[in-house]
Amino acid sequence: MNSSLNPFRINIGFLMNQPIGYSRVLPFQMDQVNISEDISLINVEGSIDLSRMQDGIRVQAAFNGEIESECGRCLEPFIDTIHSEFEEIFLFSNVDATEDEMKTPEDGNIDVEPFFSDYMLMELPISPLCKPDCKGLCDYCGQDLNQAICEHQQEKSEIQIAEISETSGRQTGKSRSGAPKT
Ligand SMILES: [Zn+2]
Ligand SMILES: [Zn+2]
Repeated sequence: MNSSLNPFRINIGFLMNQPIGYSRVLPFQMDQVNISEDISLINVEGSIDLSRMQDGIRVQAAFNGEIESECGRCLEPFIDTIHSEFEEIFLFSNVDATEDEMKTPEDGNIDVEPFFSDYMLMELPISPLCKPDCKGLCDYCGQDLNQAICEHQQEKSEIQIAEISETSGRQTGKSRSGAPKT
């Protein structure tokens, strides 16, 4: 078996003579996988679960990979972890299939790499964040606010605190007068 070279290319021959419901999990690990011309994931790992069904093979896969990203807020480079999973059915070649359904190739080798790439690409965030609460950069001076706070942000937070206490005062007044009595 050459599965160590390309874990995404699987010969399903070993499943053909197994009873319906039989399944096998194939774990995999790869240093790098290119998911498009200019995007590659590193430290990819996951598992591919193959099940023998009446009319074909069900492939369920779950996987993680890392990508070198730049934070959308503070512009710092960081390593983002991407997770995805998918399930696809490959029907046996002698089964009637519609145009949308996939069949197992004549040689018995299915290639799950296109699915892996498509699903991982869908999971890539449009605006990745180095951490969920990244404070970003100051609009005025560009200071990374995760590291230090600049004078602009200090002013802003003082104004915000003043505004919040003003609004909450007003709201309390309103709700008291608005409630109808029975
Ligand atoms: Zn950030
Ligand atoms: Zn500033």
